[in-house]
Amino acid sequence: MSNGHFPLHPDSLNTGTVLVVDDQPINIQIIYQILGESYRVLMATDAEQALSVCKKSMPDLVLLDVMMPNISGLEICQLMKADPDIRDIPVIFVTGAQGQAEEDACWSAGGIDFIQKPFTPNTLRHRVNAHLTLKRQSDLLRSLAFVDGLTGTWNRRYFDQYLDSQIALAKRKDSALSLLLLDIDYFKRYNDHYGHLAGDDTLRRVAQAAKSCCNRPADIVARYGGEEFGVILPDTDSSGANVVAEKILTTISALDIPHLQSDFGHVTVSIGAAVNLRHGATALIAAADQQLYNAKSSGRNQYQL
Ligand code: GH3
Ligand code: MG
Ligand code: MG
Repeated sequence: MSNGHFPLHPDSLNTGTVLVVDDQPINIQIIYQILGESYRVLMATDAEQALSVCKKSMPDLVLLDVMMPNISGLEICQLMKADPDIRDIPVIFVTGAQGQAEEDACWSAGGIDFIQKPFTPNTLRHRVNAHLTLKRQSDLLRSLAFVDGLTGTWNRRYFDQYLDSQIALAKRKDSALSLLLLDIDYFKRYNDHYGHLAGDDTLRRVAQAAKSCCNRPADIVARYGGEEFGVILPDTDSSGANVVAEKILTTISALDIPHLQSDFGHVTVSIGAAVNLRHGATALIAAADQQLYNAKSSGRNQYQL
């Protein structure tokens, strides 16, 4: 049995965070000795700690002891899978129990795999490495599918899905939801005057500025079209939407990106806002788009709700 130095591919080293959950610190220490050199290893000794570390540090993988006092590993896994924020973190059970019923319990709790105790360092290392590789690939695919390559904001596909799901959620909770549509003013002239590369750079800066104005975790900024962005603000009524829209206008103006072909002398945006949901995503977008049109025809560099 090799001890701590079985060669893995260099690309796979130091590229993951593993949370080890076990009520016995000695067991955590053993796993730490095996994985600590290759990965960042976090530890938790009960359910409460495990869930809070998951939320705070978003590990790439959880190694979860099945037998724990009070709340068992199976229950911790079920709690994780019921929480949308952390349900995608894969869980490998570490179990001393043997038998079909015990294995089945791990699968139905939502585990992706399990490791029988006693295990060899080599087996642990390879299991962990295999699952971290899969996790990395699925993270990458998700980002390719949902992130806009130019600006790093969410793309239109994600915007559409997120808006639908947040409207459904808002209906269930009977809460407000606001949508802002942003469009850069005189951007065609900007490109014509400064060139497309400068235009691309400005798009990135405007996107970052809009992002910096959205503070809540559920808020998102997405590239909706060429030089248009959508901002989805769950749990936000018209007065909240006003605050964010004002802040976006001010922040983008304050970037002070020169635009000699604009009446304002620098890059500005117009914003159309709409609140609520009774008629679904299409109607909400149409309402925000109408307000955007009003903002444009009332002189640009402003928002309308
Ligand atoms: P308005 O103030 O009415 O919004 O005028 P505008 O010129 O911004 O509006 P219009 O929709 O006519 O033009 C949008 C322009 O945005 C067209 C194109 O030159 C530019 N654009 C769209 N996508 C991109 C992109 O990915 N990169 C760059 N550099 N420019 C883009
Ligand atoms: Mg436009
Ligand atoms: Mg425009």
